[in-house]
Amino acid sequence: MFVDRDSLKRSEPDLACTGALQSPSTGIVDSHGFMLALQGGLEANGGQVVLNTRVARLELLEQGGYRVHAETDGADTYALTCKELILSAGHGAPQLASALEGANPPAAYLAKGSYFKLQGKAPFSRLIYPVPEPGGLGVHLTLDLQHQARFGPDVEWVETMDYRVDPARGERFYAAIRRYWPDLADGVLVPDYSGIRPKISGPGELAADFRIDGPAHHGLEGLVALYGIESPGLTSAMAIADYVAEMIATES
Ligand SMILES: Cc1cc2nc3c(=O)[nH]c(=O)nc-3n(C[C@H](O)[C@H](O)[C@H](O)COP(=O)(O)OP(=O)(O)OC[C@H]3O[C@@H](n4cnc5c(N)ncnc54)[C@H](O)[C@@H]3O)c2cc1C
Repeated sequence: MFVDRDSLKRSEPDLACTGALQSPSTGIVDSHGFMLALQGGLEANGGQVVLNTRVARLELLEQGGYRVHAETDGADTYALTCKELILSAGHGAPQLASALEGANPPAAYLAKGSYFKLQGKAPFSRLIYPVPEPGGLGVHLTLDLQHQARFGPDVEWVETMDYRVDPARGERFYAAIRRYWPDLADGVLVPDYSGIRPKISGPGELAADFRIDGPAHHGLEGLVALYGIESPGLTSAMAIADYVAEMIATES
């Protein structure tokens, strides 16, 4: 719902804006708890989580189905075959799919997003999102489960996967945050962590939506490939899973 400046002055007195859209159901999830719950559900149904193992190559079998060639950290290799394959390898998905003739994956780009955390008390009681910027949602304020405030992520197009947060990027954060929180003091932001978005649209291009290719799209029976699952992919995970399950059931 739309909230005007006067009512915001009462509920979020430190927020500078001419108006806002309030989403009463927006919040945060305990992502670690969510992952554990998914793992529990998977294992209870006979599935297995296999760590420290890289899929080196996918192969389309002549008789139908797929062979997944994997290697462990110790450089042992093995392969398993399957009739149905959900390719949800984030940054790795376009490159892995390129070995499957007909899959036609999109071009892949990387956009890093760094976070800075606020030393001291959170100025707002809810998540605050400015108007989105090209490539990302804008430097917004998130509160974690301990009610600690964190700002980010920004957008930095990169070629390699380096998760270190450059303290120098903090300067731009001050300017971006002061547009909606003018009272932000100097020296209170410290580098936190970063993430890297698996983009399928490049700098200057229109932002791409999630791309989920099933058999009706590429003609490869049993294959669903997911590309560009950036934010809000975590929030949407269960809805995406339902969508993929439906695709496998109806298109294969
Ligand atoms: C900075 C940032 C902020 C975000 N904020 C939010 C948010 O506030 N809310 C929200 O809903 N979402 C957010 N997201 C998006 C969310 O993190 C993703 O949508 C989600 O993680 C996608 O899940 P996934 O399983 O598709 O891919 P991933 O989480 O990327 O998982 C893919 C996995 O595949 C593995 N892999 C890749 N290649 C191979 C290979 N060859 N062999 C074996 N394993 C491989 C990777 O190591 C990885 O573990 C954010 C993302 C970023 C980068």
